[in-house]
Amino acid sequence: MMSYDYLIVGSGLFGATFAYFAHQQGKRCLVIDKRPQLGGNVYCENIEGINVHQYGAHIFHTSNKRVWQFVNSLVEFNRYTNSPVANYQGKLYNLPFNMNTFYQMWGVTTPAEAQAKIESQRQEAVAKMQADGVSEPRNLEEQALTLIGRDIYERLIKGYTEKQWGRKCTDLPAFIIKRLPVRLVFDNNYFNDTYQGIPIGGYNQLISSLLEGVETKTNVDFFDDRAHWEGVASKIVFTGELDRFYDYKLGHLDFRTVRFETEVLNEANHQGNAVVNYTEASVPYTRIIEHKHFESFGQAVYDNPKTVISREYSIEWKPGMEPYYPVNDEKNNRLAESYRQLAAQEENVIFGGRLAEYKYYDMAPVIEKVMKMFGE
Ligand code: FAD
Ligand code: UDP
Repeated sequence: MMSYDYLIVGSGLFGATFAYFAHQQGKRCLVIDKRPQLGGNVYCENIEGINVHQYGAHIFHTSNKRVWQFVNSLVEFNRYTNSPVANYQGKLYNLPFNMNTFYQMWGVTTPAEAQAKIESQRQEAVAKMQADGVSEPRNLEEQALTLIGRDIYERLIKGYTEKQWGRKCTDLPAFIIKRLPVRLVFDNNYFNDTYQGIPIGGYNQLISSLLEGVETKTNVDFFDDRAHWEGVASKIVFTGELDRFYDYKLGHLDFRTVRFETEVLNEANHQGNAVVNYTEASVPYTRIIEHKHFESFGQAVYDNPKTVISREYSIEWKPGMEPYYPVNDEKNNRLAESYRQLAAQEENVIFGGRLAEYKYYDMAPVIEKVMKMFGE
């Protein structure tokens, strides 16, 4: 008889949520993770009393009431609202593009004035395309110019996008920014979702609640002793890299990755906001995260005389680096599909999460997916 019903490979939100529901149903679960700690990419390292999002800034947002109630039943969430600021050549602009941005850009004060300004810039771009005999935007640059116009494209989109993708906007597909939100109201809330926030006390609290009572082992890579781990449970829940599960036999799936340069500063408040994007090409990083602003607000920011910032550099992924964002191009989508066909034939393995499905997933949809698997 096997020792466990489920061996769960990976303690990120997919694995941890799966373990939570399986454990509630009385299943015997073992969770293993190759990292020294649990939690996958939502893990936070406490530095100088501040929860530092070690694998990238994470903001929980959803419109799914059941998911929101579920996570709040495990840990209370704070009122954090994501409202990034863009810095272009030392001048600041609010994001997403809204009346504040248009005022900062052009000095317009009413929605009608803003709309007229955007429309005249859009028309310029449309006229230029028509003169070139083109009817549909052929690339991201043309898409942006016909959606929002030259000023915003050049100051807030071009440099940021080219740094993030490591390619010219004229060489990137238009679909990446098919739906640029443009708001004719004074509203800096980046997300359209009904609910958002950060767990009070950080994401590690959420992971601890999900894994309470579940056996876990860290620093254990499934592939270091695959034969052994395949023998410990009736079923495997695999949340690691899909191509690695098949020993890369069809080829490597590509990712985009980020290098974080994290620094402790002897000042209480460095940039006054959690997220500041640097949208000009000459600044090498894409953005600076100041972690304390995710969890302390107003005057409370000054309770801690220190702060921690992370500069983010978007770099090309090579095997051995942290895989962050799947690359949604034709080559990788086709390869992922071939791997998925192999995965579909496995009777005793459940593949789930952003690595095993090779899918860009926000946190809430990962939790929602597991809840559905358990009929919640
Ligand atoms: P992961 O969290 O990646 O967990 C997978 C785990 O499996 C890891 O701990 C890994 O060590 C382990 N593992 C892999 N292979 C093995 C192996 N062979 N043996 C043992 N263990 C293994 N979502 C939001 O909703 N809001 C955000 O603001 C947001 N920001 C993000 C920023 C970045 C930079 C990134 C990359 C993602 C962001 N996300 C955000 C998405 C969010 O991180 C994911 O939805 C979530 O982490 C998915 O959980 P997961 O369990 O699928 O994957
Ligand atoms: N974007 C931009 N300027 C910004 C922020 C975002 O042009 O200041 C564009 C850019 O093309 C980026 C896309 O919007 O790839 C999505 O960015 P976001 O940070 O919202 O998403 P993520 O990188 O987390 O997927």
